[in-house]
Amino acid sequence: MTTPSDRRLLVDALRWRKFPVLDDGHVALVDVMGDDAAVVQAARVSYGEGTRKTSDDRQLIRYLLRHAHTTPFEMAELKFVVRVPMDCWRQWVRHRTANINEYSTRYSLAIDSMQATRDDEWRSQATGNRQGSEGCLPADAGRPLTEAEAALQAESRRIYEDRLAAGIAREQARKDLPLSTYTEAYWKIDLHNLLHFLALRMDAHAQLEIRRYATTIGEEIVRPLFPLVWEAFVDYRLEALRLTRLDREVIRRLAGAGAVPADRTAFLAAQDPSWSGLDRCRERDECWAKLLGLGLVAE
Ligand SMILES: Cc1cc2nc3c(=O)[nH]c(=O)nc-3n(C[C@H](O)[C@H](O)[C@H](O)COP(=O)(O)OP(=O)(O)OC[C@H]3O[C@@H](n4cnc5c(N)ncnc54)[C@H](O)[C@@H]3O)c2cc1C
Repeated sequence: MTTPSDRRLLVDALRWRKFPVLDDGHVALVDVMGDDAAVVQAARVSYGEGTRKTSDDRQLIRYLLRHAHTTPFEMAELKFVVRVPMDCWRQWVRHRTANINEYSTRYSLAIDSMQATRDDEWRSQATGNRQGSEGCLPADAGRPLTEAEAALQAESRRIYEDRLAAGIAREQARKDLPLSTYTEAYWKIDLHNLLHFLALRMDAHAQLEIRRYATTIGEEIVRPLFPLVWEAFVDYRLEALRLTRLDREVIRRLAGAGAVPADRTAFLAAQDPSWSGLDRCRERDECWAKLLGLGLVAE
């Protein structure tokens, strides 16, 4: 078990340390209240802290997380300062269970930094997922896009500064700055809601940029501060797999037919009847992907 002085050293080492994200962004821990023991203490409110062993704490935390007994995780809180491009921030602020205070571009000059995309970072539109991307353009093809981006960003900044020089109010002068402009904010959230944020935003379906922020927060900050919670979170949320009733019935039919690992034809024969008339079926694709990960079907 970590001693109070070890804990203080760990928190002091993390506080205000800027973990870089993207080309000019960062996240830093400002403050933290609570640790693994705070979660356990809340869950054992009727017993007091007692003399339980770390192994008991671990089992209790794992039980709570597995069974979505969530309120003990609300007893810990973390406050961060983040520097993030506005398009990414726009996704971030959809998480309503945090407290936010953001840099004001009515009051102050907009931060003179915009997220730039390297030649080899332009991602192609995904074909299977209308919301996603897959693979990157070759750097040669990305170069003119990067140059056009740099020109656009420089021009929009020039126009912004010209407006300010002409005496236009900051609140109006900013209106044509691109969404790639960095903003900064304090972001405070309890551990339960932070885990929800991380589960959604570390997921492969989340946009790469916010995924980088979430992964940095999770792995660089939450993991060392809450090692038992983090371990349970990885096991039961991040790397868990949800099987629907339909998925389970497909598996049961495949197992019953002795067709495991099944090829595509056997999988289609065992699919849910409601999918079988459809040329394209996202739920069937998702089921296939889950079964592929489990080794129950093979390409
Ligand atoms: C991959 C991905 C794609 C997305 N695509 C889109 C999109 O195309 N368009 C779009 O608009 N958004 C999109 N979102 C945002 C998404 O719909 C949620 O708004 C966002 O992820 C925040 O989730 P949340 O509401 O669970 O979190 P929080 O706001 O942090 O809320 C946490 C939980 O609190 C509860 N809660 C909070 N507020 C309320 C409330 N008012 N009423 C009832 N319960 C509440 C809910 O249980 C909620 O799950 C996307 C998110 C992801 C991860």
